[in-house]
Amino acid sequence: MNSLEQLYRLQDRILFVRERVRERDTVPADLVEVDREYREKVEAVAKLKTRLTEAEKEARKADSELADLKEKQKKFQTQLRSVQSSREYSAALNEIDAVERVIRTTEDRLLGLEEEIESARGELSTREESLPTETEQHEERLKDWRTAQRAINEEVAAAETEIQKLETEIPPRDRSEFHRLLDKKRGLAISRVIQIANSYSCSACHVKIRPAALQVLKAGREIVYCDSCKRILYYDSHAS
Ligand SMILES: [Zn+2]
Repeated sequence: MNSLEQLYRLQDRILFVRERVRERDTVPADLVEVDREYREKVEAVAKLKTRLTEAEKEARKADSELADLKEKQKKFQTQLRSVQSSREYSAALNEIDAVERVIRTTEDRLLGLEEEIESARGELSTREESLPTETEQHEERLKDWRTAQRAINEEVAAAETEIQKLETEIPPRDRSEFHRLLDKKRGLAISRVIQIANSYSCSACHVKIRPAALQVLKAGREIVYCDSCKRILYYDSHAS
């Protein structure tokens, strides 16, 4: 393999990996609904856990707020016993009123949270109980697809090994030029030359190749770009 052949093979393997990975990660049409339902169940458990943790935290906070408020209430009641004037007395009563109102709303909030926590715990334990069976059933339905995915993973791993090997063998300058083009030209850096009768053209843009460029190409020693789409041209001498 000369370096152009290596580059062409590298592109071929890169495109192969992209295509296969896309295939591997696309849920088959007949499983989309089944998969969505299962994911929703898993997500529901995760959401419940998060909400439960939050609610428990809020409840602890409300609980400690309540303790502080009751402390205050006690303090005001003590003050009430030692007031000297009726003005002081009504001021202390007002303070007690205000703190008692906050105590009531905090108690309501705490009660609401405790109810929420209890029902979340109940739902969570029901869902967590059935999840292992659901997971098993789900995997059973997905069995054929999983087998196909494993086969794809093996193909991808083999292609990736080859890509790494090619990357180390190709001269660094050619390699970086190739990758630059690959990004720029939407995944096709190298275009094969196609021959129809005596006419040669670029397979990507179908523009004819000049005879002089073709001579250089056939010699296969340097990189030749398509005049039109600026991709690296690849002339496969074995194919013609
Ligand atoms: Zn072209």
